[in-house]
Amino acid sequence: MLGATYGMQRRITKAQQRYADQLGVEVAVVKKRSKEKRNRKIPASTRKAVLNRDDHSCVRCGQKSELTIDHIFPFSKGGGHELENLRVLCKSCNELKSDALF
Ligand SMILES: [Zn+2]
Repeated sequence: MLGATYGMQRRITKAQQRYADQLGVEVAVVKKRSKEKRNRKIPASTRKAVLNRDDHSCVRCGQKSELTIDHIFPFSKGGGHELENLRVLCKSCNELKSDALF
């Protein structure tokens, strides 16, 4: 994409930057994606790759049922569908996450 980073230095707030740092997410990736069309749906091939990588089990508790794909850096805050920003969580761990960041 031409000029992907031009004029985008202010797309991410300091708080978001800190949050990304805590989580170890590459902000450069987040910035790059934020200009692209926001499509909440994770591509099937990506979901499959994340499930394979995380051994089809919740990365927190190891449960193998009711699995969801979670955005480590929230999609609503500019996180993309890159493999490194996605992980497998079971439904209950994912629900816990919406209240407390971990
Ligand atoms: Zn779990």
